[in-house]
Amino acid sequence: MIYRNKGPPVDMKLKFQINWLNYIRFWQANGESQKTSMRVKTRLHQLVEDGIYTGGCAPFGYRLVKSGVVNKRGKELPTLEIDPIEKEMVITIFEKTVKDGYGSYVMAQYVNDRKMLTHNGAKFQSNTIKRILQNPLYCGYYNRGGVTSKRVKELQIIDDAVFDEAQKILEQRKYTNEKKTQLARTAKSSTMLGGNIYCAHCGKKLCANSFVDRYTTKDGTTHDGGRRFRYLCSGKAMKRNECDGQSVYSAARVDEIVLDALHKCFDKIKATPKDAAIEKKYRTQISQIKLEIKRLNKETEILKRKLGELTEEIANSLMGDSKFTPDVLAMAIETTKTKIADNVQRVTEKQNQLNDKETDMSKIDYYYEEFVSWADEFDNAPAERQRMIICKLFREILVGRGYSVQILMDSSYEQFLR
Ligand SMILES: [Zn+2]
Repeated sequence: MIYRNKGPPVDMKLKFQINWLNYIRFWQANGESQKTSMRVKTRLHQLVEDGIYTGGCAPFGYRLVKSGVVNKRGKELPTLEIDPIEKEMVITIFEKTVKDGYGSYVMAQYVNDRKMLTHNGAKFQSNTIKRILQNPLYCGYYNRGGVTSKRVKELQIIDDAVFDEAQKILEQRKYTNEKKTQLARTAKSSTMLGGNIYCAHCGKKLCANSFVDRYTTKDGTTHDGGRRFRYLCSGKAMKRNECDGQSVYSAARVDEIVLDALHKCFDKIKATPKDAAIEKKYRTQISQIKLEIKRLNKETEILKRKLGELTEEIANSLMGDSKFTPDVLAMAIETTKTKIADNVQRVTEKQNQLNDKETDMSKIDYYYEEFVSWADEFDNAPAERQRMIICKLFREILVGRGYSVQILMDSSYEQFLR
């Protein structure tokens, strides 16, 4: 059967020509726009590299203001400046992520509870938080189309070190998330511990993995114990070192021991009021460190004076007017210089210690409150949060032969239980 179109007949040749022309026009136009977009891009690259704002909505923490710079078309270009209120929130977002281990979901809730909106007028989502944590603008660098500007100091809100730390955490989360999804595909539950669990014999990390506990007995019955988790000594498994411990531990048994210890800690903290003696102890330690710094600085002053005298004495010695030979003096100078350098080094160390102690002292209340609230929420918390709490509370969990488990608590929390 032949099907005929009822419309007017189409000259096939003509149709082909029209299509062909369209085709050429399309490519010409496309080529043109590609050229324009390349020109714009190069210009943008230059601007970005020079640290000039290239437009768009101001990121959270900043606002657009008039720059005074007028473009070719007589339009005044906007530029960015820090928004003082949002700046504080940006700092909080980084700090809570880096210091308190807030996940991006909890962090978004935190911002929303404080009634702050994104610049699109929307509520914060965990992705908003992730984007903020990854934006190098908070360190003063514009980034557009893969080009990074030089640092614009006036726009920096976050220290490089804090920013880098946040990147590490995001990277880790990505890694654990991938691992978790992998695990979720094969099993419903997973291990309680990870990251802070070590072999008591060789000190290597214990890694978790799972296996299907299925075996057939002689009578032909298959026993299915389901998926089970275990911890393995990574040193022993790779035969990388001399480890005389067990190579495999049942995760359920280790987790139970650790959870038991954890609950004991929680019971204890619930029954322990915050002790004023802790603050007093810090004060004593701080004043001791301050005294030591003072002593070292004084000693350095004396050494420097001595160095000056020794250097002068060299001249005398060369003239034959000294009791000492230049060699002896040179040696004394060398020794004095070494001592001064040692002292300077020790002062720096003490100074760092002092800063740490002062930070810890200022956070006593915080640590105490946190510890008590963990004790309340732990049993009903989601697995991810439980894992975070264990990681923060227990610095190291050492597992040895015969399931002997040693737990080192983080000193910031342990101080309340002493
Ligand atoms: Zn080992």
